[in-house]
Amino acid sequence: MIDKRKRNLFRRVPSPFRSFIYPPYFEKKEDFLNCLECKTKECKNACPEKIIFIENEKPVIKFGINGCTFCDECAIACPNNVLKLENKKIKLNVEMIINTQKCLAWNKTVCFSCQDICGENAISYNGILNPIIDLDKCTGCGFCIGVCPVDAIATKIL
Ligand code: SF4
Ligand code: SF4
Ligand code: SF4
Repeated sequence: MIDKRKRNLFRRVPSPFRSFIYPPYFEKKEDFLNCLECKTKECKNACPEKIIFIENEKPVIKFGINGCTFCDECAIACPNNVLKLENKKIKLNVEMIINTQKCLAWNKTVCFSCQDICGENAISYNGILNPIIDLDKCTGCGFCIGVCPVDAIATKIL
């Protein structure tokens, strides 16, 4: 029988890159190691939506009232080619999930806030209730998060 200490040795060590949403212009998450040398953090300053924050020297996206417009500004500003236009993605590394316990429209109250703001037409209703997100259409832009009055849209980082 394996003792507890030995069992822990076999546990997967969580990657320091795993639990963040990144601007959509990186090639590999490991490339963010190059951000350690970056003093100016131009990507953060360049973001017109102000959704880039620096955590452990790396740029990470946090949604508030804004979302990502895929505007390219962070990639254009990056002096170290960590973010590059040629790596532009059509989705952020995140999936949106509607919490049906919290969502008003899943609880018999009319609410179209998330659908109204979604530029991708990714949220559909069954009549006027029970919205669902089509993950094939959703870009993970995050704009629906800030408009939800009951904070019912959660994120799963990919
Ligand atoms: S693409 Fe534009 S909006 Fe999105 S994180 Fe970069 S600068 Fe911000
Ligand atoms: S500007 Fe480029 S190198 Fe500097 S923190 Fe942002 S992504 Fe990293
Ligand atoms: S995150 Fe997805 S569902 Fe939400 S507004 Fe953006 S595209 Fe639409």
